[in-house]
Amino acid sequence: MTEYEEHRYDVVIIGAGGAGLRAAIAAREAGMRTAIICKSLFGKAHTVMAEGGIAASMGNANARDNWQVHFRDTMRGGKFLNNPRMAELHAKEAPDRVWELETYGALFDRTADGKISQRNFGGHEYPRLAHVGDRTGLELIRTLQQKIVSLQQDDGAHSDGRHSDGAHSNGVRSNGSHSHAATASEGKLKVFAELTVTELLRDAGGAIAGVFGYWRESGRFVVLRAPAVVLATGGIGKSFKVTSNSWEYTGDGHALALRAGSTLLNMEFVQFHPTGMVWPPSVKGILVTESVRGDGGVLRNSEGTRFMFDYVPDVFRKSYAQTEDEADRWYSDPEHNKRPPELLPRDEVARAINSEVKAGRGSPHGGVFLDVSTRLPAEEIIRRLPSMHHQFKELADVDITKEPMEVGPTCHYVMGGVEVNPDTAAATGVPGLFAAGEVAGGMHGSNRLGGNSLSDLLVFGRRAGISAAEYVTGLAGRYPAVSESSVATAATAALAPFQTDAGENPYTLHQELQQTMNDLVGIIRKAAEMRHALDRLADLKVRATRVCVEGHRQFNPGWHLALDLRNMIAVSECVARAALLREESRGGHTRDDFPAMSAEWRRKNLVCAGTVTPAGVVDISVSEQPIPDIRPDLLRLFESDELSKYLTESELPAQLAKET
Ligand code: FAD
Repeated sequence: MTEYEEHRYDVVIIGAGGAGLRAAIAAREAGMRTAIICKSLFGKAHTVMAEGGIAASMGNANARDNWQVHFRDTMRGGKFLNNPRMAELHAKEAPDRVWELETYGALFDRTADGKISQRNFGGHEYPRLAHVGDRTGLELIRTLQQKIVSLQQDDGAHSDGRHSDGAHSNGVRSNGSHSHAATASEGKLKVFAELTVTELLRDAGGAIAGVFGYWRESGRFVVLRAPAVVLATGGIGKSFKVTSNSWEYTGDGHALALRAGSTLLNMEFVQFHPTGMVWPPSVKGILVTESVRGDGGVLRNSEGTRFMFDYVPDVFRKSYAQTEDEADRWYSDPEHNKRPPELLPRDEVARAINSEVKAGRGSPHGGVFLDVSTRLPAEEIIRRLPSMHHQFKELADVDITKEPMEVGPTCHYVMGGVEVNPDTAAATGVPGLFAAGEVAGGMHGSNRLGGNSLSDLLVFGRRAGISAAEYVTGLAGRYPAVSESSVATAATAALAPFQTDAGENPYTLHQELQQTMNDLVGIIRKAAEMRHALDRLADLKVRATRVCVEGHRQFNPGWHLALDLRNMIAVSECVARAALLREESRGGHTRDDFPAMSAEWRRKNLVCAGTVTPAGVVDISVSEQPIPDIRPDLLRLFESDELSKYLTESELPAQLAKET
């Protein structure tokens, strides 16, 4: 019989980044007994790394900004593949979420007249990113944690309720029998840190009944029974060799949703941020924030040319400067000049850098030059970009106040994710499952604008928490049951790497996976290479069933990786399959063999589903699904000649008729 400890909650949130914490606050404020689970230490979620800021049309830097302009920019950035309702809710609600953070205690940088300061970022028409230097994510997490602690204190729970230790001593029983946790003494809002969820548990009808996981330190198993689960697990970057993402980004939430019977959409769209560090090799991929360009930094090739002027696509030509003089004037007089092309959306800049390097005009270590040293006084650089100054000095021995940085594209963000209801964040196909933040799909279409993730986390994290609470209330106490057999199956799968002798090494498989995704499904894609990638992934999938680890369950990183691997492989297969099918280039998906954007393809989302075989392998299938119509009042925010660049000819007359 499986030995595990057990707890009962109304809502379980997997993830303690911005989305998870905001969802937890909402669920708790709705009266739910809420658990937050994270595989890192509390406070160390990936969100803490966010640098540049949070996008919200507060209009502090330019009074003409409003939610309609933000919506328009977001749809343009996503090349009209965004779920329009999500983009609308996001643009409308982001300012309230930022102001609300201040009521929780956040301290944003201010303008001279005391308003929240807002900075420029690629693809945003007006300065829109509220920020705290280049450490915005840290402030966001600090503030949300503070709010969590204050809610715990309201509950009069243990003052150490944020620690996992209390959980260990509650409801644990050995000798194979489980116990019912003494939840009343645990308080209504509890954090289970350094606990990895490996499976969602469902009842016989397929509804969510709880989660199964293990303490990373002891390796002991845990079951949290709950009728509602919010996935807030972030992204998938660790499937790629060069990435800005943290170790947590193994696509767990994406894979948990697939295995539970939900669907993922837009998985072919992976954002390669244009500016990651390229040297030295040990730090390759670490992010160089877009704020460097927002604050005046320019990109040059080895010949000293500001090459971005050669890469402005037709759809953006009207809004971007054609000469260096005009681009430079824009920083001091944005009303009468057009934006510099360095501030095009990320996909455009990443492709341009890639082309320059391929054409032999790259920097010594395979990137291009990003220079802020000749653009701003040294003290201003240190004031505005303290982390960047520190990062380059410490890691590359480069003083960015005196010399340019070398930068190149790095895998940064996944636009694809769990298919959700835009208003409720409910995941498709699995009652009781919700998703928010980077793990959810639809909001950003084919390409996310910088700053739109932090606002997405707060807007949809809150909605997910509220919806989960409403769902639980609707159950009126009739909670789905966890079966012992589903717990036993999850435990067997988790222990499998200990049962295999002389099998595959998880580190070798991970390296092969990362190399495959980087080389064959990376920034520029070709059909033959993606077919090759799918062959390699099929091989890795089989080999992963024979993965073997040594030692015991107490803090065993090899075992942790072995369990993460099947998630990374499943998610990578979704990316590769969808990327092979989509025969056009759009946003974070560039096909060498289909370089143009196709209006026919804009009408379709690719949706991945998974079937778990008896051997525990996930078989992936991909199908086409029509994308939702854009409401006429939202369409009217665009000029018809712009719409004609995105919509099909057959769609256009109908859509434009709706405009009148
Ligand atoms: P995360 O913050 O990643 O949290 C995921 C949580 O899930 C973690 O707590 C993790 O432990 C937990 N978890 C995952 N799997 C499991 C599991 N199996 N069991 C238990 N727990 C699990 N966006 C912006 O808008 N503005 C910026 O300025 C910005 N700067 C960035 C800078 C960097 C360097 C990077 C890498 C990204 C940046 N982004 C920025 C993007 C943004 O930070 C992320 O998209 C966002 O933070 C994701 O938040 P999240 O809440 O979805 O997930």
